[in-house]
Amino acid sequence: MTPRAESLGNGFRARATPFARGRRLRSTPALRRLTAQTRLSPADLVLPVFVKQGIDEPVPIRSMPGVVQHTTDSLRKAAHEAAEAGIGGLILFGIPSEKDAVGSQADAADGIVNVALQQLSADLGDELVLMADLCLCEYTDHGHCGLVTPARGGVRGQGGELVVDNDPTLDRYAAVAIAQAQAGAHVIAPSGMMDGQVAAIRRALDGAGHTETPILAYAAKYASGFYGPFREAAEGAPRFGDRSTYQMDPPNADEALREVAQDLAEGADAVMVKPALPYLDIVSRVADAVDVPVSAYQVSGEYAMLEAAAANGWVDRQRAVLETLTAIRRAGAGTVLTYWAVEAAHWLR
Ligand SMILES: [Zn+2]
Repeated sequence: MTPRAESLGNGFRARATPFARGRRLRSTPALRRLTAQTRLSPADLVLPVFVKQGIDEPVPIRSMPGVVQHTTDSLRKAAHEAAEAGIGGLILFGIPSEKDAVGSQADAADGIVNVALQQLSADLGDELVLMADLCLCEYTDHGHCGLVTPARGGVRGQGGELVVDNDPTLDRYAAVAIAQAQAGAHVIAPSGMMDGQVAAIRRALDGAGHTETPILAYAAKYASGFYGPFREAAEGAPRFGDRSTYQMDPPNADEALREVAQDLAEGADAVMVKPALPYLDIVSRVADAVDVPVSAYQVSGEYAMLEAAAANGWVDRQRAVLETLTAIRRAGAGTVLTYWAVEAAHWLR
């Protein structure tokens, strides 16, 4: 026995210097609730939704149990339910019947995503924030996020002879941004990872009178293996090569800060990190570095992985889902894009 402790029997010891007892504040649910540092509320959550042209019934996505490709009607119903659940917003992805080299349906006034935006903005007004994902990969026949061109001097090809051509793509993004804002999108969210995309979109929106439409930039979007199920959902898998010449390389962290700084300099109002769970360090560093809202996108592979484990009875589904959402918020994201948004909102209420 040390000279500083004296035996009181029953194993208790009085110490001259008491040690900290972290367990005191964990002892009841009420104390844990009171002292929770990170809170999750329905308003933090945004639901990604897919709307497909030319279908009569919602089509289940095999690799994402519980997620569907919507008809415009089923989307309207889902949007109404999302508003009732009190979530923060929706982000829309469109799947056209016809695809071509330049992704014409992305900015066609009667293109599926623009029709859906018109309907939802008429149905819901400001009840939910309507975000439009801005990219070309769901609309192009080659499945890349930009226009492709034969490789030429200085531009390295992937998968042979075609490359994604940055600067001409910006003109397409500008046109799509205007069409989406016109259709009723409250926020434009460019996800293509072309250099200069935020500047091009800001200039286009301002020129068309949409000076008040914010841009949420997918600023740090990684070339991730966790996008697998999304390719089925959005039918946008590249026909050749992959996206690693424009999306970020997973080993890089400092580069994310540079991408974020660049997007803010170009006029982004808010920034996103994607995926979320495998990149919590990036979420944390970005949140520390900037003074604008930070979002993180919990992607299809994160969803599928946990759903599969839960379906096998290997994890407690609700508990694990809420733990991942809390972790993403704790890392510093104010907003989480998640396929569990509406269900989690019901759990949280
Ligand atoms: Zn894309």
